[in-house]
Amino acid sequence: MALFTQLLVLHLYLISAVLSQVTEFISIDCGSTSNYTDPSTGLGWSSDMDIMKYGKLVQVENPNGNWMQYRTRRDFPSDNKKYCYNLSTKERRRYLVRATFLYGSPENEDAYPKFELYLDATEWATVIIQDASRIYVHEMIIRAPSDSIDVCTCCATTGSPFISTLELRPLNLSMYATDYEDNFFLDVAARVNFGALTKDVVRYPDDPYDRIWESDLDRRQNFLVDVAPGTERIRTSKNIDTRTREYPPVKVMQTAVVGTEGELSYRLNLEGFPANARAYAFFAEIEDLAPDETRKFRLREPYVPDYSNAVVNIAENANGSYRLYEPSYMNVSLNFVLSFMFSKTNDSTRGPLLNAIEISKYQQIAAKTDRRDVTALNAIRYMSAENIWANEGGDPCVPAPWEWVHCSSTPPPRITKIALSGQNLEGQIPTEFNHMQGLTELWLDSNSLTGSLPDMSSLINLKIVHLENNKLTGPLPSYLGRLPNLKELYIQNNSFSGEIPPLLLSRKIIFNYEGNPGLHNEAQRKMHFKLILGTSIGVLAVLLVLFLGSLILLRNLRRKMSHRKCDENGNSLHTSTKPSTANSVARGGHLLDEGVAYYIPLSELEEATNNFTKKIGKGSFGSVYYGKMKDGKEVAVKTMGDSSSHLNKQFVTEVALLSRIHHRNLVPLIGYCEEAHQRILVYEYMHNGTLRDHIHGSVNQKPLDWLARLQIAEDAAKGLEYLHTGCSPSIIHRDVKTSNILLDINMRAKVSDFGLSRQAEEDLTHVSSVARGTVGYLDPEYYASQQLTEKSDVYSFGVVLLELISGKKPVSVEDFGAELNIVHWARSLIRKGDVISIVDPFLVGNVKIESIWRIAEVAVQCVEQHGYSRPRMQEIILAIQDAIKIEKGNEGNPKLAPGSSRGQSSRKTLLASFLEIESPDLSKDCLVPSAR
Ligand code: ATP
Repeated sequence: MALFTQLLVLHLYLISAVLSQVTEFISIDCGSTSNYTDPSTGLGWSSDMDIMKYGKLVQVENPNGNWMQYRTRRDFPSDNKKYCYNLSTKERRRYLVRATFLYGSPENEDAYPKFELYLDATEWATVIIQDASRIYVHEMIIRAPSDSIDVCTCCATTGSPFISTLELRPLNLSMYATDYEDNFFLDVAARVNFGALTKDVVRYPDDPYDRIWESDLDRRQNFLVDVAPGTERIRTSKNIDTRTREYPPVKVMQTAVVGTEGELSYRLNLEGFPANARAYAFFAEIEDLAPDETRKFRLREPYVPDYSNAVVNIAENANGSYRLYEPSYMNVSLNFVLSFMFSKTNDSTRGPLLNAIEISKYQQIAAKTDRRDVTALNAIRYMSAENIWANEGGDPCVPAPWEWVHCSSTPPPRITKIALSGQNLEGQIPTEFNHMQGLTELWLDSNSLTGSLPDMSSLINLKIVHLENNKLTGPLPSYLGRLPNLKELYIQNNSFSGEIPPLLLSRKIIFNYEGNPGLHNEAQRKMHFKLILGTSIGVLAVLLVLFLGSLILLRNLRRKMSHRKCDENGNSLHTSTKPSTANSVARGGHLLDEGVAYYIPLSELEEATNNFTKKIGKGSFGSVYYGKMKDGKEVAVKTMGDSSSHLNKQFVTEVALLSRIHHRNLVPLIGYCEEAHQRILVYEYMHNGTLRDHIHGSVNQKPLDWLARLQIAEDAAKGLEYLHTGCSPSIIHRDVKTSNILLDINMRAKVSDFGLSRQAEEDLTHVSSVARGTVGYLDPEYYASQQLTEKSDVYSFGVVLLELISGKKPVSVEDFGAELNIVHWARSLIRKGDVISIVDPFLVGNVKIESIWRIAEVAVQCVEQHGYSRPRMQEIILAIQDAIKIEKGNEGNPKLAPGSSRGQSSRKTLLASFLEIESPDLSKDCLVPSAR
């Protein structure tokens, strides 16, 4: 009796658990105009009208007759924005999230939609519609990272994004828990019911968690083919005890396939693979075996040593018939095409049996925008009465940024710009802004903001601040004068009062404070007073200035005399370079004295180079000669043979650019000559030649050790970083490669060859017809779009880093076979965690693996397909510095030794431990669930 009562209580508990589960289901019929209950499942569906402001409702022309929720869909505009549904979750609870897509439109459409699906910032799937009448299902198993999730569509490459249904199903307790759930979601790739009675899927109410179990009778392409002969379908109506971890539905376990000739085999495609996966097999003995009969079998394919050796004996493993045995791989690496086979053991009387399988891919959770930034954005979002722009959902930065913000490209994204000019904002500037430490530009002008300026002293990256035409009051805080990067501050037409912080006035920034009657410039007043008092000192100063002025005049006169020879030859270089020099003053770039890149007469160069006899190299520009000037300075003299207009432009570009930039990691231009149809550039001579010579062996000496390579990488990265951020507008090199990285007498690296450089600003409006650069280093995105950004240099620099690690050239059939180039070859090995295979054999044994990893990781980021995913030069420098620290440090990092196994050499990050397949528990020599 007591036992009966206990069973009853347990039964009631299970029923109530499932019922409470169902009430927590969220089922959204996208595009529907009303809420309803689906009679076939008894589940309530709600319209998305109240929760989705964007897109349009579309009636589906061929709705799937069985399901009410496919009569409509919601189509979104095919722009670059994301469109997100926000679903409430309980933090850390596990859920099944399902998005489905039935297009249903007739075949005569130009192209079916293809677009991206995101869960928060994580790429979930590319939705590709190929069959308009098929329901495409995407399921993700997650442990909710916070109290809500966003499911977003975006970035259509054909057609427009759309969605049919969105469902959220809470799971129980530890169902689908994995060791990796802090960092990975599970993207369901296959869940199959074997021996199914019909082609229909099994789901709620048969499965209380409403998982979709596909029928093995589904005849779509590449789904469960290569079936072994003798495969038979069996079923039972007896109950099956499925109380294991994942509670599969009894209905699915009541059917199975058996290999009557000793084998069961299938082949199917797994979308999104190769990848690491969580894989389950579900076995329940549903035939009544005679006492002398046994059913024992092994996994033959895919061959995983420990698992394949273990023997499955269902009744023994499950502790009886009609009970579920559910072995699983916590982490197994699977290919796109999965072929699997079970074979009976020699001593078994029956062939293998299979009730169901479930395979999910581990999908790395992508970083969302820094929480502090999101809080600040939320604080300002609703300060406008007309806040249509504020309704943009999802993460502010990923996958596409909100229209009014700019974001940094490295994870976790940070907000770099807020652009809310003229948006009818009312109220005070939120104090939360002080946490947006990535902010460089703040545009809040022409609103109705009131109150005083909050503390924003932590915004040390702030460069441009527009607060003009508001109703701001109070004093100007003194921290404004201390923001180290502030270049422009506009506060005109407000009601600020009090003294202007003297630091603001003393700095070289654009500062407009007109139209603030209450503001006064104390420093200026004091200045006037002092001026009156010091008239006599002033007179003296004027005299001094006059004296100095005449000295400068005299010096200029002398220089003109020395330039006359070139002018006599009718050259125009002086006039063409001058405006650029003038520009650079206005733009505030670092300047050389005008006299530094000076004109050198041809005769002087002939003398210095002994009539151009010692040739040290040849580039596309022309030959390069060694020379020694009268004062003993050694120079490299670059002659331009061809006087075609594009080379002439290169010449002018290089003189103009190099005359106004100066950095210890850029090869300095000493002078130039344009005479007798010759155009010549004279550089400081770099005694140790090019980096290319050193790593590809044309220099007859010992290859560079790792630390020297890192030092060179750091120097070159600093040179490029200066071009990208130290000049305004920034300069894009466009031809970063190892032959343009030169080494001075101390083996310090300097970047050279600006013949192709472009100022970034020019290119924003300019799409050139031909991508320029060197094969093997050329950014494919730039090549395809012709849109040039600093990230193209980053790509090329990534190739340089890969050359430094591997000692291989960027393009080589010999080294990379069909992959042809270093990027594809190195990337696939690095992603597999196999860094050893790419390391220059000369380095092996003399380098710390952690240090190599640091560079390999950043190199792979540099050669990402899209510029926005690549790091900035600043971040690359930090990575190189890290690597140097690791390499120099004596913290006992293991040295990379020849023949180290992958396990030893893999980085002990999650990625690496993830790649090491977990050993199963082999107790009793049988395949049992792997430990969790
Ligand atoms: P491309 O013009 O196709 O980009 P490149 O960069 O090799 O090729 P150049 O910059 O003209 O062409 O240089 C040609 C060669 O001259 C270099 O490879 C190098 O060996 C040598 N060289 C160039 N500048 C210097 C220098 N400042 N000091 C020493 N050698 C130099």
